[in-house]
Amino acid sequence: PATGEQVPSEVRRRHAELCQEIDDHSYRYYMAAPVISDAEYDELMAELQGIENRYPSLVSQDSPTQKVGAPISVDFAAVEHLERMQSLDNAFNTEELLSWTQRAQNEIAIDAYLCELKIDGLAVDLVYEEGRLIRAATRGDGRVGEDITPNIRTIAAVPLYLDQSQRRAPEVLEVRGEVFLPWGDFHDLNTRLADEGKTPFANPRNAAAGSLRQKDPRVTATRPLSMLVHGVGVHQGASFERQSHAYAALRDWGLPVSDRYRVVETLEGVRSYVEYYAAHRHDPEYEIDGIVIKVDDIAVQRRLGSTSRAPRWAIAYKYPPEEVTTKLTDIRVNV
Ligand code: NAD
Repeated sequence: PATGEQVPSEVRRRHAELCQEIDDHSYRYYMAAPVISDAEYDELMAELQGIENRYPSLVSQDSPTQKVGAPISVDFAAVEHLERMQSLDNAFNTEELLSWTQRAQNEIAIDAYLCELKIDGLAVDLVYEEGRLIRAATRGDGRVGEDITPNIRTIAAVPLYLDQSQRRAPEVLEVRGEVFLPWGDFHDLNTRLADEGKTPFANPRNAAAGSLRQKDPRVTATRPLSMLVHGVGVHQGASFERQSHAYAALRDWGLPVSDRYRVVETLEGVRSYVEYYAAHRHDPEYEIDGIVIKVDDIAVQRRLGSTSRAPRWAIAYKYPPEEVTTKLTDIRVNV
């Protein structure tokens, strides 16, 4: 944007440094080998965002604030998603959550929100044609992901064929979800790795990413990964009026939909869902790092639209980190 503001040279320098640093951390993270905690990463991002809010002329397409994920690895074939995969904007406290709902409500009335758990796993994209799973890919940079079809096929929760006993499957259905390693299996895997003299994983997210992004799917098959779906991309031959209706259809087709999501009509409802899981964070069998709040009405979602990085109709409410620092030695990747 042609704002014409003067950017002090030390700000310009810090901006460039942050972009580089964040890009490096993103790359390591998506390769399942982060060297800083998520909270530290979020702080770097917040600093970068702060600078760009002050000096909008520094914003470019290349800035981490405008991008999703990281470039893909050469170990996998590249797959172009039918519809772009995005990230989510964050709210770190109730005020930020309220200001998101207010911004949205100022544009259009919202009659219901769908609240669900933010699973700390790995985003994947599944494509079904005439009810048959034909491809699975990581999110990559949102446009192009890594082809991990043979690896995904080893996950019991992922149907290779959609169940059509209740509804006909669409001609094309692109489903988004999160692959994760349940807590119990994570601990078992780490015990096994330690017994074999290998380095354990620092958290279930790294374990899931490391297990899924294996060149040899036979290794993935030994890891009891699971998946829950939380979104739809292209859907040719099916239409949904609400996010919750889409979930009902996905469930009918045999796709793994969480039974922990709730549709609420008021902000009070959103708030009590957020508070409930803040106090019951360890009830789910998988690690969560927050709550995702989505506008339920899909026509309203379309009206609100999205930025290059994230939809305006959804937000991630992030819970405070449970462990602020992670020891570097704990987070070496296992392959
Ligand atoms: P994100 O993880 O904050 O949120 C977007 C993702 O949430 C989506 O792509 C989706 O896969 C996932 N998700 C989980 N449950 C969902 C649900 N119910 N509905 C919709 N989406 C759901 O964003 P991101 O762009 O994937 O990654 C950024 C985050 O990753 C950072 O905030 C940080 O926590 C972490 N990160 C850490 C490092 C590091 O070095 N430690 C580096 C890069 C990123």
